[in-house]
Amino acid sequence: MKNTEFCKICNNPVTNPICAKCNTKHFLLWMNKHNLSLKKRHYLLDYIKKNLFFESENNDNCIICNSETIGICSYCFYSKIENILDRLKIAEDIKEDFLQIFNYELFSDESFSLDNPDITCN
Ligand SMILES: [Zn+2]
Ligand SMILES: [Zn+2]
Repeated sequence: MKNTEFCKICNNPVTNPICAKCNTKHFLLWMNKHNLSLKKRHYLLDYIKKNLFFESENNDNCIICNSETIGICSYCFYSKIENILDRLKIAEDIKEDFLQIFNYELFSDESFSLDNPDITCN
């Protein structure tokens, strides 16, 4: 039987389970593409390892590598990184690219409900 994993940060069910390792890999590729300075890369990686890797008691495995369990949702993973990008004063165009690449699925639920106010009254 499969239990739904809950995010250790926002406590929401993780509907699209991708582990921190896979998310980090994806993020590393992105940093390479933008030639971020070594100092910034180290800072970001250090932050990710210290703050975004969680032990999980659940058996729900990552849909990409199928070996790691899920600690937090991708939304929390990338929104935390976004805060660090701000702190590091990353150029606007690079940040825009980050938002485009990593936020495509993150806000889908929210924007759906915002665009479609509940009109099933009476
Ligand atoms: Zn979360
Ligand atoms: Zn994975």
